[in-house]
Amino acid sequence: MYKLLKKSGKVRRGEFHTPHGVIQTPVFMNVGTLAAIKGAVSSMDLKDIGCQVELSNTYHLHLRPGDKVVRKLGGLHKFMNWDRPILTDSGGFQVFSLAGLRKIKEEGVYFSSHIDGKRIFMGPEESMQIQSNLGSTIAMAFDECIEIPSPRDYVEKSVARTVRWLERCKTEMDRLNALPDTVNNKQMLFGINQGATYKDIRIEHAKTISKMDLDGYAIGGLAVGETHEEMYDIIDTVVPYLPEDKPIYLMGVGLPSNILEAVSRGVDFFDCVLPARNGRHGHVFTNEGKINLMNAKFELDDRPIDEGCQCPACKDYTRAYIRHLFKAKEMLAMRLCVLHNLYFYNKLMEDIRNAIDNDCFEEFKREKLESWQGRA
Ligand SMILES: [Zn+2]
Repeated sequence: MYKLLKKSGKVRRGEFHTPHGVIQTPVFMNVGTLAAIKGAVSSMDLKDIGCQVELSNTYHLHLRPGDKVVRKLGGLHKFMNWDRPILTDSGGFQVFSLAGLRKIKEEGVYFSSHIDGKRIFMGPEESMQIQSNLGSTIAMAFDECIEIPSPRDYVEKSVARTVRWLERCKTEMDRLNALPDTVNNKQMLFGINQGATYKDIRIEHAKTISKMDLDGYAIGGLAVGETHEEMYDIIDTVVPYLPEDKPIYLMGVGLPSNILEAVSRGVDFFDCVLPARNGRHGHVFTNEGKINLMNAKFELDDRPIDEGCQCPACKDYTRAYIRHLFKAKEMLAMRLCVLHNLYFYNKLMEDIRNAIDNDCFEEFKREKLESWQGRA
């Protein structure tokens, strides 16, 4: 259940009540693809760095270790020792971006596993069954993530099929939630708006799915190659057609500056692999923009990654030491940088929420964008 606490212009401050606790929004979800954050970050660490929601990937967990294995072990929460909310994606995005030899039919998608080439079928029902076995807090609807650019007639057909798939997802989720031995019988379902960059298709689709009384709504198919301005334009177009009493989730976005711009357009939920992926390569976010710790100029730099940062890496370690760890190929280098970057994102969201609470979001946004200028 979403509770809107405050609205100023389009900016929303809210609370999302789930069976695994309350999520303060706007929120950044930390991406643990295979039931772990890449970079040796544990669920204990996640609590230290202020993570509210962890995101895991249905496609990956279906292949390895298998959702039935996770179910036998009590569900994903127990399996990875995380008692706060978990969102699972539908598998659709990975099927379309990772898997080989895809064939899209009305019933679903036939594809081959990127691990061993095995032929697999996934449709709306299978996606819901896998997510139900994982027992996540929030399940995402199975959709087709359309490439940008795509021809208009293809997008029209795909979006119409995504609507039919959403109806099937809802029916299947209701059936699964009613079974006596379901891992999480209060599993929630979010629908996903698609339509590439065709505004009229996006609007019609948003209107259609808004009537289906889902637990939340995502804007999908963005951050796939379009410009930032095009992305903001689509958010501006779609948000007014989504229900005000449900959370809005912008999938796979993005840079800290993208998050600020999207919050100012009414978005509540975010996720992105960027902070962890960047961290694993020594690229760290600071209040003066992004820096690369591999640079020679940090060899004798005895400051923390970001002065004033309270993360476990910045409290105790220097740029020079972490740079040395990267050069020596020590795993600790990645771990410290991923911890810092995830802390940076979670703290940014906390600061955003405080700024909205204190009626100074616009000022906060302007100051942040100026300090990161051109680099973050
Ligand atoms: Zn830090």
